Amino acid sequence: MSPSILWPSVIRKGSLFLLPTGRLLGYEGSAMKHQDDMRFMREAIRLAALGSASGCGGPFGAVVVRKGRVVGRGCNRVTSSNDPTAHAEIVAIRDACRRLKSFQLDGCAIYASCEPCPMCLGAIYWARPARLVYACTRKDAASIGFDDAMLYREMLRPARKRKIAALQVLRHEALVVMRAWREQPGRKMY
Ligand code: ZN
Repeated sequence: MSPSILWPSVIRKGSLFLLPTGRLLGYEGSAMKHQDDMRFMREAIRLAALGSASGCGGPFGAVVVRKGRVVGRGCNRVTSSNDPTAHAEIVAIRDACRRLKSFQLDGCAIYASCEPCPMCLGAIYWARPARLVYACTRKDAASIGFDDAMLYREMLRPARKRKIAALQVLRHEALVVMRAWREQPGRKMY
């Protein structure tokens, strides 16, 4: 595709894309990546719009992409499925992992219509994709009533000073299970 279709003011010189000022915008590969990022993000945004308009939940969508193909889709389903963990990213990760029959998203990219909350960021790290791309920011989410800042603040506080009281008991009994697992020959690390 001609770069002039991507960005009207971009000039192509060989494999380089330049702005009219002469500043290097990128190479052919990165332009293709940028084009793909726009395409997949639009799909995440489409799911966000569809999900919120149909009463699934909040206005958030996500897709998981592997080798240029969407392998997982999700929109927020918290209120419709009575599941506080059914954020778009988690729904999309579950969908992708089910399809790929894997508990990790090696080489995948996650596109989220909004910057992930701490729970989703944690899930994304556990799923281990190669990239994360997001559209709206956490400030945009806060402006419509989804304030992640409280969670980020809570995580920095010691457990006993958090809003939800955390108490530690029976460590030794639980530790027995953990140690037994460590000795299990066929254990699967993740
Ligand atoms: Zn989330």
